[in-house]
Amino acid sequence: MWLALGILLLAWVWGPLSGAREGARISYTEFRQQLERGNVQEVVISGEEIVGELETPANLPAQGRAADDRRFVTYVPSIGDEQLMADLRAQNVEVHTEPERGMSWLFLLLNVLPFLLLIWLGFLLMSRMRSQGQNVFSMGKSRAKTYQPSAERTVFSDVAGSAGAKGELEEVVEFLRSPQRFQKLGGEIPRGILLVGPPGTGKTLLARAVAGEANVPFYSITGSDFMEMLVGVGASRVRDLFREAKQNAPGIIFIDELDSIGRRRGAGLGGGHDEREQTLNQLLSEMDGFDTTHGVLVMAATNRPDILDPALLRPGRFDRQVVVDLPTMADRAKILAIHARNKPMAPDVELEEVARSTPGFSGAALKNLLNEAALLAARGHKDMIARRDIDDARDKILMGLERENLALTDEEIRMLAYHEGGHALLAAILPEADPLHKVTIVPRGRAMGVTEQLPERDKYVYSRAYMLDRLAVMMGGRAAEDLVFDQSTSGAENDLKQATRLARKMVMDWGMSERLGHMAVSGNTEHVFLGEDLGHTREYSEATAREIDTEVKVILEQAYDRALRLLDQHRVGLDAIADALVESEVISGTKVFELLGLGGNGGRPEPREAARRLQ
Ligand code: ADP
Ligand code: MG
Ligand code: ZN
Repeated sequence: MWLALGILLLAWVWGPLSGAREGARISYTEFRQQLERGNVQEVVISGEEIVGELETPANLPAQGRAADDRRFVTYVPSIGDEQLMADLRAQNVEVHTEPERGMSWLFLLLNVLPFLLLIWLGFLLMSRMRSQGQNVFSMGKSRAKTYQPSAERTVFSDVAGSAGAKGELEEVVEFLRSPQRFQKLGGEIPRGILLVGPPGTGKTLLARAVAGEANVPFYSITGSDFMEMLVGVGASRVRDLFREAKQNAPGIIFIDELDSIGRRRGAGLGGGHDEREQTLNQLLSEMDGFDTTHGVLVMAATNRPDILDPALLRPGRFDRQVVVDLPTMADRAKILAIHARNKPMAPDVELEEVARSTPGFSGAALKNLLNEAALLAARGHKDMIARRDIDDARDKILMGLERENLALTDEEIRMLAYHEGGHALLAAILPEADPLHKVTIVPRGRAMGVTEQLPERDKYVYSRAYMLDRLAVMMGGRAAEDLVFDQSTSGAENDLKQATRLARKMVMDWGMSERLGHMAVSGNTEHVFLGEDLGHTREYSEATAREIDTEVKVILEQAYDRALRLLDQHRVGLDAIADALVESEVISGTKVFELLGLGGNGGRPEPREAARRLQ
């Protein structure tokens, strides 16, 4: 390619120059003058070029003077010179003509070269596609990657927690390794296992662990890999995948993100997606078509089991569902331990405490947390990750970046401090409230300040008393503003939204209001692939709806009144917290207890204990 370009370039530069070598380049006017004087002996005309010889050397004013002064070169003007031939004849000049020389092969090259270039590009593309194993003619080939056992093999010990799911999969691996043991007792290998759980809980990781431990061929593919611009490709890829797996049985096929092809057929809005449905149909029939003696196990993962086609879930297909749930506190500690393996931690870091402070975090979120902490520590040129880094990383993940240059007036800062102080005080003194972790008035993300509470353990059951205390804490910000400044700010927007949502749930879902009693009125949630809200259908009357609103309002008002009353009672403590916040922006839960005269034991206070003493 470079050679061709080089030649072209050379021809360009050299072509016109080559003429000059045959003689001195003179102007056309000069040539005409010489001709008039009868000084021209002979000329060779080819194309526009005229090369000729003078009779006597003239002192030509020429560029690129030639050795032989009698030879010259000039060019016929492109507008033509009709007189030229006549004049030449009149002067008895010997005229030779030649076909346009030189230019012709250049011309050819210029014309052919683009085509050569295109052909060459085409070949390049073809060969590249072939090397990636996707010839244009093999669109329908399965795109599954066969798992190659390598140095970084994932094994079950890399997966922390999710004991139930792990046990289930370990059993399957056992089955594939020594099927006789199970078959002796008439047991059959399950055909399909569906891993179900929220994103980031380690479903893909578990599948990789199965691949690493099973010692059988493992074909892994993502649901969307079946999709292509061309119709019918998906279905033929499914067919190809199963054919290959059966040939090399026993083996495992793993389809990640199954929901992208496994959605319920013919439902939802906007009509069906033909290609997707064909692919799903093919998958369904393939899963029926092989019997368990083949020893091909289909595993799949999804975080939306609710939108899967029911036909996928019936016995004989994905008959086993393994739920991979968000990790419990103990599991979080184990996951953190796994991801802390390669990260030097300062002695003040307690993974149990980190686990306690991260309710609702998935495995992936925990991994990300430690990574963010490591980056923060590295930014500070530290050798180890400190407790502070992890705390900052968590705040950053939960609430966004600190907003540094917000210009707030002193008055606004005081209001913020009282707002957060109100939340904090109530969180500290209410018996059922989650223990206070820290309070800040550093704006982060969309929040102007934060009062953080951390549950002592993961909660799955909430009492009414807990809800009421929680509502009072949420109302604490607004109540403090009203109490101290006698006016409200927009800062309570999020508090009010959350409180309203909670109160509504208490009334509608949990039967916790007096007037409606023990009735769930939330209606059924039918998913139409649009997220929950649109799918809600109301199953109660207008009158009930009005009553719900009244009840919600009553609960919220009571919570507010309670917050206001308590803050008024503890006004001295509230002032102390607000002052401390204005001064240092961030204060810990322990500090709040101290300011309220509750802690005193220096270490972590026992909030329940303290609160009881105060009330
Ligand atoms: P999913 O497929 O469920 O969305 P992944 O398996 O892709 O989640 O998890 C993402 C990452 O999070 C994993 O690669 C792993 O590093 C980490 N992770 C998730 N769950 C666990 C766990 N139980 N133990 C260890 N690491 C985990
Ligand atoms: Mg995944
Ligand atoms: Zn607030």
